[in-house]
Amino acid sequence: MKFCVIGAGFSGTIISRHLALHGHDVLLLDERPHLAGNCHTSRDPSSHIMLHHYGPHIFHTAHHHVWEFITQFGTFRPYINRVKAIAQNHVFSLPINLMTINQFYKKTLNPQEAEQFIYNIADKTIKNPSNFEEQAISLIGKDLYNTFFRGYTRKQWGMDPKELPASILKRLPIRFNYDDNYFNHPYQGIPEQGYTALINSMLLNLPIDIQLNTRFEDIPFKNQFDHIFYTGPLDRYFNYAYGRLPYRTLDFEKYEGLGDYQGTAVINYCDEAVPYTRIAEHKHFTPWEAPHLKKTVWFREYSRLAQADDAPYYPIRLAHKSQNLAHYIQKARATPHVSFLGRLGTYRYLDMDVTINEALQACQKIDHALKSDTPI
Ligand code: FAD
Ligand code: UDP
Repeated sequence: MKFCVIGAGFSGTIISRHLALHGHDVLLLDERPHLAGNCHTSRDPSSHIMLHHYGPHIFHTAHHHVWEFITQFGTFRPYINRVKAIAQNHVFSLPINLMTINQFYKKTLNPQEAEQFIYNIADKTIKNPSNFEEQAISLIGKDLYNTFFRGYTRKQWGMDPKELPASILKRLPIRFNYDDNYFNHPYQGIPEQGYTALINSMLLNLPIDIQLNTRFEDIPFKNQFDHIFYTGPLDRYFNYAYGRLPYRTLDFEKYEGLGDYQGTAVINYCDEAVPYTRIAEHKHFTPWEAPHLKKTVWFREYSRLAQADDAPYYPIRLAHKSQNLAHYIQKARATPHVSFLGRLGTYRYLDMDVTINEALQACQKIDHALKSDTPI
């Protein structure tokens, strides 16, 4: 059978690989000049540093099968994300842990004391937090919220945290010990040769027709394909028939220098007066290489509402504005011979491991449909 896959990120690559391994004809296209979608990495020609072009990507998962799958395609080096935050002229440890609490309140609390202390300052009048702010205040109280979350979130999302869903905060742990690992997952790492090399090795030696710099919109005879797997933006597929789904985009300001600029990979800037959200110094994402690299490169990250030609990064999912999304989802379900996948195709914030897991599940569904001669 003949398939077209749009988008060469993790979603499109996994589907293409699966179809090609099962003997199907596959055209994989991406409008960008490279593979790997938003996870794209390449070495800076001057400094040799591995750059994460669309923002820092750290792999983490609780799914053993996802880890087993992905580590077939390249060596992963252990990497623990230890983020620092600068707020009110002090450096703190994130996510909020015993060090943060003791530094912030100038105390020497042990875990039990800290838990009791935070319990005492948390707002217990909020029984069912209905937004980001309520969720934060009910968990950690106003002071920590105002220092670490309010300003950062206003910069990151361009709106008051009261307008945002509580679920955005639920992504971050709060700990009463000195564990400063940003993630809870048992499997964490960064591919030694970057994500683009990893994706490349997933596609290696397979008879897939890969066309980069190619927009789906410009492909003639779309009905030549038995089925299309689309991992681009959902609204774009339907030519924005119900208006644009809102996204935040990021601007990266690149700086270069010698030695070590900030001594760690990521520092968040939580004060609203600082216009950028964070600075990422990319040589620290390869700690096994960093000591040998003379030069350094760092990026200031600015968030803003995406305009028509901007790359979509974070979907802005607001319950009271979800009418357009519902129309698009309905339209997608009613479109025969097309499957919508991935973070853009489903308009959700998906970590890499969730993206991979969903793509692997989609492969199983494809097999089932083809075996039982039912529509995919
Ligand atoms: P994408 O990688 O976006 O791939 C879609 C591809 O489709 C793109 O290459 C695009 O060019 C192409 N395309 C779209 N429309 C068309 C069209 N019409 N014609 C041709 N091509 C088209 N996850 C983690 O697990 N850890 C992290 O640390 C992490 N950090 C992140 C940081 C940022 C700033 C962001 C925004 C995301 C981060 N993620 C992270 C999430 C990660 O980026 C996604 O899980 C992953 O990129 C999703 O892969 P995908 O294949 O679904 O989409
Ligand atoms: N956040 C914050 N201050 C921080 C870090 C995170 O207010 O120093 C909030 C912010 O709203 C962000 C959310 O917590 O969108 C989730 O944080 P995470 O680090 O997971 O954001 P991402 O990696 O998606 O940018």
